[in-house]
Amino acid sequence: MRICDLIAQKTPFVSLEFYPPKEREQWGAFFEEAEKLKAVDPLFVSVTYGAGGGTQDNTLEIAARLKNETGFEPLVHLTTVGATEERIAAYLRDLKTSGIENILALRGDPPRGMCDFKPDNERFQHASDLVSFMRAGFPEFCVGVAGYPQPHPQSPTVAEDLAWTKFKIEQGAQFIVTQLFFDVRQYVDFVGRLKAMNVDVPVIPGILPIMSLGSIRFILSLCGASIPGKFYLELEEADKKGGAAAVSEIGLRFAIDQCRQLLDAGAPGVHLYTLNKADACLHIAGELNI
Ligand code: FAD
Repeated sequence: MRICDLIAQKTPFVSLEFYPPKEREQWGAFFEEAEKLKAVDPLFVSVTYGAGGGTQDNTLEIAARLKNETGFEPLVHLTTVGATEERIAAYLRDLKTSGIENILALRGDPPRGMCDFKPDNERFQHASDLVSFMRAGFPEFCVGVAGYPQPHPQSPTVAEDLAWTKFKIEQGAQFIVTQLFFDVRQYVDFVGRLKAMNVDVPVIPGILPIMSLGSIRFILSLCGASIPGKFYLELEEADKKGGAAAVSEIGLRFAIDQCRQLLDAGAPGVHLYTLNKADACLHIAGELNI
């Protein structure tokens, strides 16, 4: 079913993000974790897509299996870095054949270390190009896009980032999933500014429960988001005293509090980054009692 229709029927909700394990040997354990997460009754589950190759075929297969075997409604991430129109069209046709109805239209990450990155194809320079391409040729899909409560690292100003976010919606995107963030005020401000620009689609906040210092350092280095200094010091202190278990306890408590505040502030739901592990998300969903 299309996510835009699902959101109209049920709020608040929990949704989940998975990434496709690279090695086939890991798939069994992956689907076991996914099976456990049925208890959360997610409105949809998103499956990431490796920019520039690698895990693209896996995304399709994992998403189809999550739909047909686990009973989840998948949202497939689709990036345009390095893609031609023919390849995107063929991939969309394959998704359609597999019963996928929802796409998160993304440009994709720059190659590592390339801050002044320019897209390497003329046809799809930005996510907005993929949105308009899909609206023209594949109108049956429900299309979401990424949004950035802390502006995208390549945006010169907050105003420009918001203007391009609005542009993606004007091209036909129907909802926004945000980059992870740790300060609820950033989400409230982001949604408020979009509303003031007459952008009124659902904005689903992306929440990462921190499980270890190593993983949060790595993830922040990839996505350009930041963590409040006070919270980070608390995590470091916990790591010194109690190791990974103490860090994840604080991370979990913080994520639950963040979700509660977001739902109170009017977020339609919360999108939890699972990192392919069930326990933290089961705990959060249980506490939220949605
Ligand atoms: P765009 O919307 O194209 O924005 C990129 C930059 O260009 C921004 O600064 C924006 O303000 C500006 N801009 C946007 N449109 C225009 C325009 N028309 N003209 C000029 N400037 C413009 N990456 C992956 O590789 N795989 C994934 O599965 C994946 N999943 C993600 C899921 C979420 C929820 C989020 C938030 C990000 C995800 N990413 C993923 C990362 C994403 O690909 C990167 O953040 C990427 O650098 C930007 O993608 P975008 O779709 O936001 O790009």
